[in-house]
Amino acid sequence: MKKSMEIRDLHGEINGKEILKGIDLDLLEGKVHAVMGPNGAGKSTLSKAIVGHPDVEVTKGEIIYKGENIVGLEPEERALRGIFMAFQHPVEIPGVNNAYFLRTALNAKRKFLGLPPLNAAEFLRLLREKIRELGMKEEMIQRSLNEGFSGGEKKLNEILQMEILQPDFVILDEIDSGLDIDALKRVSDAVNKMRDGKRTFMIITHYRKILDYIEPDYVHILKGGQVLETGGIEIVDALEREGYKIFGEEQ
Ligand code: ADP
Ligand code: MG
Repeated sequence: MKKSMEIRDLHGEINGKEILKGIDLDLLEGKVHAVMGPNGAGKSTLSKAIVGHPDVEVTKGEIIYKGENIVGLEPEERALRGIFMAFQHPVEIPGVNNAYFLRTALNAKRKFLGLPPLNAAEFLRLLREKIRELGMKEEMIQRSLNEGFSGGEKKLNEILQMEILQPDFVILDEIDSGLDIDALKRVSDAVNKMRDGKRTFMIITHYRKILDYIEPDYVHILKGGQVLETGGIEIVDALEREGYKIFGEEQ
């Protein structure tokens, strides 16, 4: 099966402290990979390393995406190549209009792909359709990016960004935390609709619930900055029975 991303012996530090201690992980094209693990395991750090977040310094190893080692590329360059991440804690950016931000991001990507930009009217039509599908309030798109949004609204706004940008590689970091059941279903529907056999998903979660809606092809257990186990949904059953201790003692 074709690999979308190949992570090899990845080591990464935050503030000089090693968090990622040799991650080896293959993410297959068109598949949904769930990543689980105890708090502090390094899940968010791994996703930040993939998107090139400045908090994380990669000290060793490779992230091969579409045949290219992307370690060292700027975050924008990774985004243009189709990598997208919905953050566990989306930031508020006062003064940056949500719709304007999204249109700028979309048109930058279209330019990279050699497509003409969408004008304001075309973009608004697209945006309204997606907003309706997600059950978001229309006024949210004219507000500043995430400013004053509830936790759940921020998560929906991240999904809206994913829907507009149509990335090839999607990381959802605890997208389910803080969502009520209706919003969780809408988010899951949105993800399932985007499963097209090509797009790859990495879904970080603590809870089985979202994995009942978005059925993963693979489940990986991350602990102590390493991938300890890879399998199917049966891993989650074991996890619910025994807790993370079955995957080795705390390091
Ligand atoms: P997870 O997402 O699996 O819960 P994280 O990747 O967020 O774990 O964190 C892994 C470790 O890195 C934790 O011990 C955490 O305290 C530490 N860490 C994360 N972000 C920072 C930061 N900005 N500064 C210092 N330590 C951090
Ligand atoms: Mg996290």
